[in-house]
Amino acid sequence: MPATPAWPPKSAPRLFVPDQLGPGRIVALDGPQAHYLGKVMRVREGDVVILCDDATGEWAARVAQAGKRDVVLEVADMLRPREAVPDLWLCAGLLKKDRFDLVLEKATELGAGRIQPVITRRCVADKLNLDRARTLTIEAAEQCALTALPELCETVKLDALLAGWPEDRVLYFADENGGEPAASAFAAHKGAPAAILTGPEGGFDEAERAAIRTHPCARPISLGPRILRGETAAIAALGLWMALAGDW
Ligand code: SAM
Repeated sequence: MPATPAWPPKSAPRLFVPDQLGPGRIVALDGPQAHYLGKVMRVREGDVVILCDDATGEWAARVAQAGKRDVVLEVADMLRPREAVPDLWLCAGLLKKDRFDLVLEKATELGAGRIQPVITRRCVADKLNLDRARTLTIEAAEQCALTALPELCETVKLDALLAGWPEDRVLYFADENGGEPAASAFAAHKGAPAAILTGPEGGFDEAERAAIRTHPCARPISLGPRILRGETAAIAALGLWMALAGDW
């Protein structure tokens, strides 16, 4: 008995769209997304495209029209509801562009619920192109067939971050000067909302370190005996969290 082919085909293009999806909804795409479908994936009327809205979930849609500059799709069936991700924020010291790109991509894949870029006194970079950053997280999610995007925040200065910190959220502070081993801290975590804070290339200065450590929600953690690059620390800490307190 020949196996029935998987539907939709694994090769079906996958896109995040801003509109909330539902059965029968019409989605009209133009610009880069229409170019990707029309010129790169060469979709034709009747072809299936997988659409996600980062709200309801993942849907199969049929191409109703494939024009030169726009593609119109009709949403058919829900394939998967939006996946739940652990309530974990990554507050990462802003790094140089290509390094922070890696943080954005890997934090998306690893299931961070929110990415909060933080400006500290030793940051080399001082601004983030949010549109470009959003595109990177969407591309990472599309490539890994995720149905949920991390919330991506505008950069914030460390003192403002601490001043406005929600009192129910544990702030695991990755301190290169030392702290509780991250593994034991995360293994003992009891499900409260959490965040991981990592520094930039130059780390935290002493005044920043003192301000973080005196915050009532802060828990200093160590990521081992070696000094890691900022992007390595963020990615390693996220992976450890997902394994010990997340949903791996
Ligand atoms: N300026 C620091 C130095 O030379 O000692 C290095 C900072 S490191 C490149 C960037 C960030 O990664 C640190 O601020 C910290 O948040 C995190 N990090 C790196 N290694 C770590 C470790 N062994 N334990 C905890 N956090 C670490």
